[in-house]
Amino acid sequence: MTMSLERIALKRRLLDERRVMRRSGSRVEFVNACEICGNAVDALDLHEVIISRGDVRGNDELLRKVTESEYNVALVDKRCHTDLADTDWGHRLLTDRLIDRYGSRAILSWITMLNLKAPGDFLNFVVARAMEVEKT
Ligand SMILES: [Zn+2]
Repeated sequence: MTMSLERIALKRRLLDERRVMRRSGSRVEFVNACEICGNAVDALDLHEVIISRGDVRGNDELLRKVTESEYNVALVDKRCHTDLADTDWGHRLLTDRLIDRYGSRAILSWITMLNLKAPGDFLNFVVARAMEVEKT
């Protein structure tokens, strides 16, 4: 699938915003890292976290919204994208990172504004994860 201009712009923005601080010897640098394993690599994929492409199959407008929102995407390296991102564990971890970064309130209101036919499962999942994240 070719990337839309919006998605290219989103990826570029997130690569900039989600840099993490790493110490290398006595130097401190800001690098992009996989949001699952933490490996610093340049080649990162965008992965849809809370609402997948499959969840909105057949609706181009919703597909665009879920693939082009920072509230729903993670930056992951190729290996984690293939092996871990879609497991229950990976899904929870990446959702928790989004909640950490943006807050559950912003994410819940984004989901609500999508006008999905059945948003309940997505909303409940984010609420349940937010309760875990806020406990720690
Ligand atoms: Zn990784």
